Amino acid sequence: MAKEQRVVFIIFGGSGDLAHRKLYPALFKLYLKGYLHHHFAVIGTARRPWSHEYFRQTVMESIGEDIGDQEKISSFAQHFYYQSHDVNDAAHYLALKKLAAKLSQQYQSHGNQIFYMAIAPRFFGVVAKHLHSENLLTTTGYNRIIIEKPFGRDVQSATTLNAGIAAAFSEKQIYRVDHYLGKEVVQSLPLLRFANPLLEAVWNHHYISNIQITLAETLGVGERAGYYETAGALRDMIQNHALQILGLLAMEKPAEFSSQAIHQQKEQLFAQLPQYSPSQIEQNFVRGQYDTDKKGNQLAYRQADNVANDSSIETFVAGKILINNSRWQGVPFYVRSGKRLRQKSTRIDIVFKNNNSKIFTPSQLQTSTVQPVILSICVEPVQGLSLTLNGTNPGRGLKPFAHTLKFQQSLEEMNNSQEAYEKLLIDIIQGDQTNFTTWNEQKLTWGFIDRIREYWDHTRPQFPNYLSSTFGPQQSAALLAQDHHKWVWGSED
Ligand code: NAD
Repeated sequence: MAKEQRVVFIIFGGSGDLAHRKLYPALFKLYLKGYLHHHFAVIGTARRPWSHEYFRQTVMESIGEDIGDQEKISSFAQHFYYQSHDVNDAAHYLALKKLAAKLSQQYQSHGNQIFYMAIAPRFFGVVAKHLHSENLLTTTGYNRIIIEKPFGRDVQSATTLNAGIAAAFSEKQIYRVDHYLGKEVVQSLPLLRFANPLLEAVWNHHYISNIQITLAETLGVGERAGYYETAGALRDMIQNHALQILGLLAMEKPAEFSSQAIHQQKEQLFAQLPQYSPSQIEQNFVRGQYDTDKKGNQLAYRQADNVANDSSIETFVAGKILINNSRWQGVPFYVRSGKRLRQKSTRIDIVFKNNNSKIFTPSQLQTSTVQPVILSICVEPVQGLSLTLNGTNPGRGLKPFAHTLKFQQSLEEMNNSQEAYEKLLIDIIQGDQTNFTTWNEQKLTWGFIDRIREYWDHTRPQFPNYLSSTFGPQQSAALLAQDHHKWVWGSED
């Protein structure tokens, strides 16, 4: 059984989608595992005038029957309290403070408080400001603030937001969520790199040809169109998720496996992101927007509610990032994310160079070339690894034959694996910031993204440029073809 934690959670946006779909089920799993037991309470806040009882009912409904029996769900829900609250009203913070203090005593939570911002990003700053001005932070326990994505929409807005939060909380108290960092396979990247000498030895430009990071979705924008029109795939997926994965793949070896050492290396790496000029952006980044599908059955992006019928917002991005340091000189990191693609997949493909094939003559190999060795790391929907190596088939001489070593988690293992929010909440209550982003990381990644965004905002794309249920626009394949490379996953042929 896990060590029980003492804490009062204060969830702003307690009636919202994130809270109900992700946070309450994840908290319940922490309850089942013993991280939360007697000494915790959850205050949900939102504008509606709900009773504690009604709130508890919604919390119970949010927890699927498959993860716990009714009795447990109901005893868990008894720890929940509701406080009607408008984020802009200072008086409401006083009521909240009173309730938090009462619950802290009642549950003996030692003044430990976690403030979770499950509200629209425009409210993050105002809540932080009031938590400070109305003195909601306790002096006896810890105070942590959890900020959902997006953390700003460019470097300027992120700086303003950060300054607002930093006025009340120190960097050690701020947990910026990037839920891809909560995924088990992403968390395991440092282990894969540094606990396997076989991989560590070849993790550089001498052996690696290119690295491909793919975040592909089959869904369109759906109900998020209003937000998406102000964001686009570059802001929504590349600035955070894709670059965070790139950071873990490309950073130098940390001195130790600690939050501080890992963030130090990631920050150093992000400081080396290229500062592309407009012509380099043109050459290294492509954007796309989905049309209907081949049969005309699905709505094009521009046909969705709340989307302008001449929208220039991209639903697809592919880019080439060159890190100019001694490890990665000349190795392209290709990042790609898109909506309405043919399959859902989050994966990393590491393509190795064919250095040693030169010793074989074509006649010895009975064919022109050997295949590149490829390590594929699958994050979702399946979790696993595959390594494609050159070998031969018995009785066929030296003719190369690709052998794939595969490890794929079973359905049972996948069901038992922890969901991202569960893992992140455990980190938060244990005070571990490894899997959250630092302000410097945000600032540096926004700096990289802003140059592309600004250039794109001044040039009008030919949209739509890819059919739904394909692997994106032609230009995406062309981006790699110009380097004589090819996407490992999702080429049209
Ligand atoms: P939502 O619209 O479903 O919920 C918003 C909540 O804020 C509601 O409880 C609402 O009552 C409350 N609220 C609105 N105005 C308020 C006010 N003036 N004062 C007090 N409360 C107010 O939104 P959501 O989808 O739950 O998203 C919440 C946050 O999480 C956003 O920042 C979003 O970007 C982020 N996020 C959500 C998801 C998701 O899966 N829903 C995933 C990643 C990040």
